[in-house]
Amino acid sequence: RLPSDLMLRNALLYLSNQQRVFRFIRDNRLAKRFASRFVAGETIEEALEAVAALNGRGIRASLDLLGESVTNAAEAQQTGREYVELLERIQARGLDANVSVKLTAMGQDIDEGLCVETIGAVLRTAQGFGNFVRLDMESSAYTQKTLDLFYGRLYPAYPENVGIVLQSYLYRTDDDVKRANQERCRVRICKGAYKEPPAVAYPDKADVDKSYVRAMQALMRDGRYPGIATHDEAIIAEAKRFAKAEGIATDRFEFQMLYGVRRDLQDALVREGYNVRVYVPFGTQWYPYLMRRLAERPANVAFMTGNIVKE
Ligand code: FAD
Repeated sequence: RLPSDLMLRNALLYLSNQQRVFRFIRDNRLAKRFASRFVAGETIEEALEAVAALNGRGIRASLDLLGESVTNAAEAQQTGREYVELLERIQARGLDANVSVKLTAMGQDIDEGLCVETIGAVLRTAQGFGNFVRLDMESSAYTQKTLDLFYGRLYPAYPENVGIVLQSYLYRTDDDVKRANQERCRVRICKGAYKEPPAVAYPDKADVDKSYVRAMQALMRDGRYPGIATHDEAIIAEAKRFAKAEGIATDRFEFQMLYGVRRDLQDALVREGYNVRVYVPFGTQWYPYLMRRLAERPANVAFMTGNIVKE
């Protein structure tokens, strides 16, 4: 990447944490319209419509109610109730969708007991419907905490209904993949979206990509139905080659992509007979999510400002 791209990426990741900037952007009609490319609306109803459209294209979904760290118990409990309702509405409409949750939105930063109780209610609902809850992975400050909670409390109680995410930019991920395979738990592998220091994460993209391929191959060969979350065509080609070479059937893994990103590639994979799941974020708290997506592809900033200038 060009150095200017990296500077822009860092600036965007910095802005993703600025609530004051969010308040300004949230009220901006044009920013909202741009966000609608990556975010499936602000209400459950709009999100379910987007899922129905994806299901019509042969694509499954994982619904994410946008929102990050909460600061009081009432907010965490409210988020938990909204996820329970979401699972009920998915079931009532017969949609092919599971949910993705962030533990910080369930009170992880406030109190572990509160977090376990809140996510527990969501997991019980998912279990009742035979559905599945993916614990998104946040910044490296939460990696160990999240895995401890998962292996210590959640996975033993709901082995069929909960899974984790590992990020290939972290040095620790080779070891985390080994453990996940030993414990037979479901993993989504992604590159990682947060700004991390070189003490914990590979600074060079080439190393992140190599680490991704290592983790992906180990999960495909020895893991349990991994989610291969990427839009990287070279890595997707490698996954297909590896599956053929190792005799891994197409129903033993799935490709995952983000809502609004590379729709052409999503459809092509479905036509070729692969399982594809799209991550569908919705809700009013879309700002940090949007900024991380812009940081991944700074060309999107030009796309956004270009649209504003045209208005
Ligand atoms: P890159 O090398 O970044 O991109 C490869 C190509 O994909 C680019 O050249 C570009 O053409 C295209 N592309 C990538 N991003 C965009 C974009 N935003 N807009 C347009 N084109 C783009 N990260 C976490 O840290 N925790 C999570 O829990 C998590 N869950 C995820 C779930 C799913 C289903 C997906 C797809 C990603 C998730 N991520 C998560 C984000 C992930 O870590 C990466 O930041 C993101 O997917 C971009 O990396 P990439 O693998 O697509 O490869």
